[in-house]
Amino acid sequence: MKAIRHFCTITKHKIIVMRECFKVGLYRQGLLHDLSKYSLTEFRVGCKYYQGTRSPNNAEREDKGYSSAWLHHKGRNKHHYEYWIDYSLDGERLLAGMKMPVRYVVEMFLDRIAASKVYKGNAYKDSDPLEYYENGKAGELMHPETRALLERLLHMLAKYGEERTYRYIRREVLKRKRVSFRLRPLKRLNRKRPAGSFRVVKL
Ligand SMILES: [Zn+2]
Repeated sequence: MKAIRHFCTITKHKIIVMRECFKVGLYRQGLLHDLSKYSLTEFRVGCKYYQGTRSPNNAEREDKGYSSAWLHHKGRNKHHYEYWIDYSLDGERLLAGMKMPVRYVVEMFLDRIAASKVYKGNAYKDSDPLEYYENGKAGELMHPETRALLERLLHMLAKYGEERTYRYIRREVLKRKRVSFRLRPLKRLNRKRPAGSFRVVKL
């Protein structure tokens, strides 16, 4: 039955994105990612146009001339750059991509990794998300700084792998100050303190 298969497809993707989000400390976004796909508006279309090999939104678009599910989706999920398209203030263009908060750029990056992992299965390589991006570059409506960060992360992943890229995301992009403390006996550092007292060392 199409409904069950569609449910499994979106849930599988959601679980992978959640796992990747947790690795960089984006717990809330990991839990809420793509939740609107379970709403009636989007789920119904997903079932009706389920094909298994491509997004049902494309099939709906070909059928109706637009995709109601996608319009609903992109208006509710901040990790899509299309969410951030607004009227430009510079007066030249009517619509323009606004700069996305970095935590959503990271979610967009992880979303692409998850999609590549599902698509490639065991054959997945760290260079796949970059390759996929270069084969179908996102439109002009992505803000240049948002695009630059996404591309930097994709190149970093292809070159250095997940561990180093995720560490960079946690420390430099999201500036997570995951402070861990270690207690170290003072001994010679401060003789005035009573024996057995500790100095907290920030790692
Ligand atoms: Zn989404």
